[in-house]
Amino acid sequence: MKHVYTISDLRENSLPENAKLAVLGYPVSHSASPQMHQAALDALNIDISYIRLELKPGELTEAFTLMQGLGFLGCNVTIPHKLEARENSHVISDSVKALGVANTIHFKDGKILADNTDGPGLIQALEEDFKTSIKGSDILLLGAGGGAGKAIATQLARVGCHKLYLSNRTASKLDDLSQKLSDNYAASIHTIGNSAEELSNAAKGVTIIINATSLGMKPEDAAPFPLESICPHHLVYDAIYSPPKTELLRAAESAGAKTSNGLSMLIHQGAISFQIWTERTPDISLMHRAITS
Ligand code: NAP
Repeated sequence: MKHVYTISDLRENSLPENAKLAVLGYPVSHSASPQMHQAALDALNIDISYIRLELKPGELTEAFTLMQGLGFLGCNVTIPHKLEARENSHVISDSVKALGVANTIHFKDGKILADNTDGPGLIQALEEDFKTSIKGSDILLLGAGGGAGKAIATQLARVGCHKLYLSNRTASKLDDLSQKLSDNYAASIHTIGNSAEELSNAAKGVTIIINATSLGMKPEDAAPFPLESICPHHLVYDAIYSPPKTELLRAAESAGAKTSNGLSMLIHQGAISFQIWTERTPDISLMHRAITS
């Protein structure tokens, strides 16, 4: 079994015989999806190998056709193929319609079905980690104009959060998003800048703070938020999972707030994809161990 396969391997069918699931991306060698899905498949005695498939931009359409021919059950799709995956599908779910892109493909009865489990995965992660309901919650989202941030903002509005503050370094990236959310959902949407004062004021009116910026991935990164504004009642979620404890989460813990990192989002989106393909419920704690051990 190779660490990463390519379009040539698909064309020549030089894949493991039981390779029927994959994660497609470029690059994709860092993806932890194979570890967690393989552990869940093995535990349920499902004889399928989950592989990494590195596809260059433009190779996705051919890859889908080849995968259907080889009897693949489906795949996860990551950067930069999420939009192309949607465009190459016959049937798209409500989640894909709302979020605009697909992360899960199911090859079924000759058709390509597209879904997006990122949004629902995040909601499950927040609700389980914080033992709370997103419906009716007041939330501050940092980095709302990024790829993950837009999806998170849309899903929070979709499931009925009450008040949603959207912040982004480049404020203009929020214009279309805030308009779309205000037009389609009942949540009260407030666009703010990312100055310490604006963030601090917004934090006073919310329970949940979510970081969807990439700040915190590198040790030298500035904090995405004025840390002294975190209060014990805050629930602080960082979409980053590597490192597992960012400066934001450390400061939140010190302030007495509840915290969680993006690992739960990754695992829950994976578990929902797994259910779509296999109609079986995977063992979440096993998937967690498979990634972290
Ligand atoms: P992205 O599209 O590149 O967006 C990056 C975001 O970070 C943008 O909002 C960007 O603001 C902001 N940002 C970057 N540098 C900044 C700085 N110096 N100061 C202030 N803001 C800054 O990336 P992405 O795909 O959305 O990913 C964002 C984060 O989410 C990453 O840390 C990623 O690991 C995490 N993530 C986690 C999961 C999971 O399953 N847990 C899934 C997806 C992503 P501008 O718009 O102004 O550039």
